[in-house]
Amino acid sequence: MTARKAYTATMTAACWREHMCGACGGAFRALLETSATSDYATPSEARLAALEAAEKLLADTVAMQPCPSCGLYQPDMVAQAPMRRHRKWTTIAAIAIVPLALIAGPQSAGSIMADILTIAVTIFCAAAAFVHIRTVLHNPNRDLAANRAAATGAIGAGWMEMLVPGIPNPATAKQWRSRYRTSRLLACAASILGALLTSAGVLFVHAHNWPVNEHADPVIAGPGDDVKLTMVETITPLEGLWRATAKAQVANAGELGLADTALQTTSNLDVWHESISRDFSLIAREVQPWAIVTLPATEMLAGRRIWIQVDLAAHYPDASGSVSFHNADTTFSDTYVLQLAAPHAARDSVLIRAGGLALGSALVIAAGYLLHRLALRESNLALPTRTISLHDNPIQPEE
Ligand SMILES: [Zn+2]
Repeated sequence: MTARKAYTATMTAACWREHMCGACGGAFRALLETSATSDYATPSEARLAALEAAEKLLADTVAMQPCPSCGLYQPDMVAQAPMRRHRKWTTIAAIAIVPLALIAGPQSAGSIMADILTIAVTIFCAAAAFVHIRTVLHNPNRDLAANRAAATGAIGAGWMEMLVPGIPNPATAKQWRSRYRTSRLLACAASILGALLTSAGVLFVHAHNWPVNEHADPVIAGPGDDVKLTMVETITPLEGLWRATAKAQVANAGELGLADTALQTTSNLDVWHESISRDFSLIAREVQPWAIVTLPATEMLAGRRIWIQVDLAAHYPDASGSVSFHNADTTFSDTYVLQLAAPHAARDSVLIRAGGLALGSALVIAAGYLLHRLALRESNLALPTRTISLHDNPIQPEE
């Protein structure tokens, strides 16, 4: 049964939070206030629910008040925002970057999709690195004199009370002001390096300015690479099933100084039941047969123009009959011109992109995680606090 939530109540909870300063031994307390809104069937239930929510919020709230004696923000106050921010950006990085990097890594060399996805990963990594660095560089304990002045102001306004004055000691304060500085700066450096590494694939391809072959896949290819060449004509087999035997040879072998004109070639190898009857749930799909040709791994072909003739005999279930299907055969013959890049340009581009993405995003995520752990560890260095609820203890700030 669900009660109709007709009443809305907003309630405020307040408490004093007592802190002991780790640096000077002083004790002070800060006034904390939170409010929450709740809907319920009756006004009293709504007020009770809102009060419970406000009190829960109050229990999780950390006061942001410096020690009135020495000006130091305690470790739990300092670590509060960094802990949340590092965790948030490590999570964003893991959720957004990992799938993007997994898709971007194996994309064909030189393809626009590879560039777009890689740059997207770099942008996410750079944004995460920027937030981590900005968070690390922000130190609320940079100016203790200004903090002391702020504490005096808060005491005047009734937000704070000094309980026991501390004895400020510059040597102890220095130790408490900036924790794990070296580890944090190293993590920041790792996140910058990580963001840069993710862009390695794009930088590698564009720095070489290799020739692009629009009709080949990958569009960049060098001696020793595998290239997919697609026929101009199409066939329309049932369910798009086809297999083929393909032969390829270098048409300008003499000009290139190649002794062997034949190229290692493979094609599609679909298998289907030869005796299937024409089933009307099977759909004819247009396909462009293709062959994958392995370019000779000869260094002298780098930068040269190669003419490749591909002869392909395709075998496929033909849908043109109205009642039954039959296996049909079609032969294709096309010639392609490829402008070659450096040896293994396609393979190396993909390896460098995938490696850069894997290592780079791992560095950014690991750096964020380390920073989160350091903030957590810092927070645990704070001396225990004591909470005095203003409901149990009718102390008022203006007292
Ligand atoms: Zn202090």
